[in-house]
Amino acid sequence: MPLTPQRADVPVTIDESKCIDGCTLCVDMCPLDSLAIDPVGNKAYMHVDECWYCGPCAARCPTGAVTVNMPYLLR
Ligand code: SF4
Ligand code: SF4
Repeated sequence: MPLTPQRADVPVTIDESKCIDGCTLCVDMCPLDSLAIDPVGNKAYMHVDECWYCGPCAARCPTGAVTVNMPYLLR
């Protein structure tokens, strides 16, 4: 069970098993402040659904934990 509920249709999903405690890179990279660290589990999650699909959150994650779920029409 993930500590933070995650829907499959959110713009960005985080694989909590790969997210490193204490890392905040994806949170720092997001121009919209859409990502945050869950204070309970210390894992990143999408706390607002707003997303530009710009990609630096996924590109900068050292473990590849971040997936940007590009909408079909933008591919
Ligand atoms: S794709 Fe861009 S806007 Fe969306 S969460 Fe990542 S950094 Fe933020
Ligand atoms: S960049 Fe990756 S490891 Fe770092 S907080 Fe984000 S999801 Fe976790």
